[in-house]
Amino acid sequence: MSIPKETLESFSDFLGSKGLRMTDQRKGVFEALFRQTGHFTAEQLLQDAQSFDDTVSRATVYRCLPLLVESSIVRKIDVGQENKFYALNGSSETFKAQVICSDCDRIHDVDAPFMEWYGKTVSEKLGLNVKDQRLQVHAECPEFRKKDGCKQSNN
Ligand SMILES: [Zn+2]
Repeated sequence: MSIPKETLESFSDFLGSKGLRMTDQRKGVFEALFRQTGHFTAEQLLQDAQSFDDTVSRATVYRCLPLLVESSIVRKIDVGQENKFYALNGSSETFKAQVICSDCDRIHDVDAPFMEWYGKTVSEKLGLNVKDQRLQVHAECPEFRKKDGCKQSNN
């Protein structure tokens, strides 16, 4: 996937609002970002970025990710594991729930629009503002049930 120009521009603007500049290294992280499919870890992003720009450091990636999350380009997926996963925020505004295989840690995103409705409705009743909400389902994949274990892999 090539970098959508508007997204790059809006990230530049976002950086500007924080008094930061779009450096070549940050652009490298950004490019690597749009090569990701599905969920990725900070380490995967680092490796990809370094494969075409070896000036991208671990520190750049780890400092850039929270900015990407804050600017809503990327969302953070906390599945309660040591590795934090990230995913590009698609154009879809639909609330996503994660279904995670408890053996191979494969993560499936599923649309769960009812969750958003539920969170809003419940909060409104209590006069509160929704800040964050998540739904995670831990499951076993078919492979796991058959062979008592599945191939180790991410997403
Ligand atoms: Zn599995």
